[in-house]
Amino acid sequence: MSTRVAWQARTRLVAAFLACLLLSPPVVLGVGKPDFKPGYNFFSIQEDVETGRENSAQVDKQLPLLNDAEALNYVNSLGKRLVAFAPNNHAEYVWQFRIVNSSEINAFALPGGYIYVNRGVFDAAENEAQLAGVIAHESGHVVMRHGTHIASQAVLAQGGLAILNAILGQSGSLTTQLTQLGLGLGVDSLLLKNSRTAETQADEVGTYILYQAGYDPRAMVPFFQIIAKKYPQRTLQFFSDHPNPENRIRDVDQEIAQLGPPHGGRTDDGEFDSAKQHLAALAPPPERKGTPKIDAKSHPPPLPSANLTHFDGKIFSLDYPDNWQLQRSEDSVALCPPGGMVTGAEGETAQAYGAAVSLYTPQQGNWGLVDATQEFVESMRQSNPQLHVLQQTGMNLRGNPAVSTLLQNDSPVEGQRETDHLVTVRRRESVLAFIFIAPAGAFESYAPTFDKILQSINLAP
Ligand SMILES: [Zn+2]
Repeated sequence: MSTRVAWQARTRLVAAFLACLLLSPPVVLGVGKPDFKPGYNFFSIQEDVETGRENSAQVDKQLPLLNDAEALNYVNSLGKRLVAFAPNNHAEYVWQFRIVNSSEINAFALPGGYIYVNRGVFDAAENEAQLAGVIAHESGHVVMRHGTHIASQAVLAQGGLAILNAILGQSGSLTTQLTQLGLGLGVDSLLLKNSRTAETQADEVGTYILYQAGYDPRAMVPFFQIIAKKYPQRTLQFFSDHPNPENRIRDVDQEIAQLGPPHGGRTDDGEFDSAKQHLAALAPPPERKGTPKIDAKSHPPPLPSANLTHFDGKIFSLDYPDNWQLQRSEDSVALCPPGGMVTGAEGETAQAYGAAVSLYTPQQGNWGLVDATQEFVESMRQSNPQLHVLQQTGMNLRGNPAVSTLLQNDSPVEGQRETDHLVTVRRRESVLAFIFIAPAGAFESYAPTFDKILQSINLAP
């Protein structure tokens, strides 16, 4: 079961509601300096910096950072050399570059100029231009202010200016107020979830920075392609954070043609080579925590533990087996036994065992729970084409009217069918959906665990 669709559907709702505001004008390229126009934003650059500082304090606690002076000096001097060419008031951002001690290939930027590059990027890059391409792309997210643009979308989606005035009029940090909008903090923050449009803009700005800084501006996009082929496992996170439209190379080529006369690009990689060698000589990164992705067909997950552990979320809490792992993504939570996530042929991840909780906002106002549940099932069907409703009944969830839906689907475990039990309940303007997932042949043995989880649910008033 892939549960990613709910957020997309919600994004579409916001998009439809605000179509005219949301369509960021494309970059205007021409002779001279291109015009990079950020999307609408209710926050100031100072507030980007403040939010970024608070979030980075959190991220620094959540991720293993590499505290190596030589490597940090190198990435900071390369980074600062690049962002000096960034458009849109680059001098107002803090520009701090950190190295995450992970061999996964990934990089991300927080608002205000806090850029994180995984050690795996240094390892995979063949020359400085490729590393510079990753940093330039992330700098593009900063100067296009994508994080607080997302926050601005959330403000509008949740009630517009009245909410904004309430946020800005309140005491307490901006991040705390944004967290109340459901934007989260640290590595799970929605501030980090860029749209495809944002990714294209970051590519455009990145290409411009590379060209201006004297690097081969084509170095960036082929690097993404090379690493996708060469390190399929180590790039999963990168490509779920950075959707990779096929026309990306074409877009970059078009932009390059308009930037100015071609230049060969810097070929002096001395500093890059010594930084890369230095990193390679350090102790290897710590083993990555997280759900190991194993072949769930030949190795079904271990049975759910009888001991439960507690999860306390913003709008609900529940208990789940203590040998399951909790993964938060966008506005859903997955509770998954080890090996319960399965990687498909395309590198996409789907949950074969466990439970998931999603918040879904129906497209129409004044909805009833049965219709809204139907709409949610439809939205899931887009990524689960074999999903069918077997049975639907009303039920009561902790004193709240709820709908219980039994579904059948193709399991991500090859050759197996899947049974899903969906329980939906209204939470203000949204539907809170609890989904219990197992291959059809194993559902019976998981049912007692699913019941225990269901019984433990508490909904915030
Ligand atoms: Zn990006």
